[in-house]
Amino acid sequence: MATTELLDRRNFYIGGAWVPPSVAHDVEVIDPSNEQACAVISFGSQADTDAAVAAAKAAFPAWSMTDPGERIALLEKLLEVYTARYGEMAEAISLEMGAPISLSQTAQAGSGVGHLKAFIEDLKQFEFDRPLGDHAPGDRILYEPVGVCALITPWNWPMNQVTLKVAPAVGVGCTMVLKPSEIAPLSSYLFADMMHEAGFPAGVFNMVNGDGAGVGTQLSGHPDVDMVSFTGSTRAGVAITKNAADSVKRVALELGGKGANIIFDDADEKAVVRGVRSCFLNSGQSCNAPTRMLVHRSRYDEALAEATKAAEQTAVDNAHHEGRHIGPVVSEVQWNKIQGLIASGEQEGAKLLAGGTGRPEGHEAGYFVKPTVFADVTPDMTIAKEEIFGPVLSIMPFDTEDEAIEIANDTAYGLTNYVQTQDVERARRVARRLRSGMVEMNGQSRGAGSPFGGYGQSGNGREGGEWGIEEFCEVKSISGWNPVD
Ligand code: NAD
Repeated sequence: MATTELLDRRNFYIGGAWVPPSVAHDVEVIDPSNEQACAVISFGSQADTDAAVAAAKAAFPAWSMTDPGERIALLEKLLEVYTARYGEMAEAISLEMGAPISLSQTAQAGSGVGHLKAFIEDLKQFEFDRPLGDHAPGDRILYEPVGVCALITPWNWPMNQVTLKVAPAVGVGCTMVLKPSEIAPLSSYLFADMMHEAGFPAGVFNMVNGDGAGVGTQLSGHPDVDMVSFTGSTRAGVAITKNAADSVKRVALELGGKGANIIFDDADEKAVVRGVRSCFLNSGQSCNAPTRMLVHRSRYDEALAEATKAAEQTAVDNAHHEGRHIGPVVSEVQWNKIQGLIASGEQEGAKLLAGGTGRPEGHEAGYFVKPTVFADVTPDMTIAKEEIFGPVLSIMPFDTEDEAIEIANDTAYGLTNYVQTQDVERARRVARRLRSGMVEMNGQSRGAGSPFGGYGQSGNGREGGEWGIEEFCEVKSISGWNPVD
């Protein structure tokens, strides 16, 4: 396909207008369903990063002093625009990162609507200005915007990540520069256009494309950026933290995961299949995926049979086709990484029950991966330790509750763990002992506005609800607010 036929998404959104890059640096966006270029973007240079940060800095004094009601009204307008252009958003996501269109039309694009709605309600409840307490009637506590924020996002749930950051940041009065993933920039380009249509003042929201070594690093080290909110790999989170240290920025990190799904002997009969589907959702590219299935030995053989069947029944197909199949993984780099990890599972002695290396039949082009299940995985194997980010499930047996908890906690990560048991006391006991920011039990998903984030190398931030709002605030303590007798 010639460059002229590609979607042209080269411009950046800076200071309320679409502007060309200061230096041409074209990069193609690849459709993972067919490995063909579908769009062209630009990578920004230092001059573009500086212009975007300067626009955010210039907009901050006025925006930070606006009334919360004014900011909430603009978020409501944004929700209206997002809803009107919802179909475009779903198509952009499927094209850039390969989520099947049916998933994009529901969970992927829908996460943006969900987060905007939840933050609008949470911001209405949020007390930006509150007394310290009855014991200190002269004291006032103010929650104020932290300043200019750099928002750096990944490709796997693009609008989920972008709205989890942009909505609270604008809601509290911050200004910002978004740098979306260079692999999946099309949804953010559309989102920037929606911010423009919604009518946010110039400079409040800016967007520059680029990679981690370029714009990402320029932002995390920029003297005029007050906070970096990052979602992505632990590797990049560490690099960002180090680079931000010299200027003492606040750094909020949402990183990877290696979730355990503990299936006890009294788990409900759908627990195994639910776990397999949840692991394979979005082609396994979710930081909170339950990728380690821990099964009580009394149900182990039964679970292996059910998981094998569920994997074999998981269809793989083009992201542009409707249906409940899984799509390709996002890129050639990810495809190669996943193939290497599947091979390591076989080499290190895990038992391959379904899938394996190579492309599924009939999918010679596109980054498709076979839905793969390993049994008899041990905690020391690479597939039990590393985040695979593909449709690959590792199953291992356990005998006692203590052993299950020990295996679950034996990871550098700590994002989401899962518990399946009909014994309420046991469920609660185990949930308390799991070292992770989230625990989902018996297939019940978390409510809107609940805090999302991890322990350990899964990061230090909490997104969503009042916790996600506070993340973008400074807290000011003032005495003498009320004259004391
Ligand atoms: P990635 O770390 O490669 O890239 C994420 C973003 O960071 C991209 O925008 C990239 O350009 C930028 N980046 C990379 N290196 C950088 C650097 N040195 N400085 C500044 N920016 C840099 O991750 P990815 O491959 O896009 O996403 C997958 C990862 O994200 C997985 O590990 C996944 O678990 C994690 N993730 C975590 C959450 C969560 O909330 N915990 C949610 C989604 C994804």
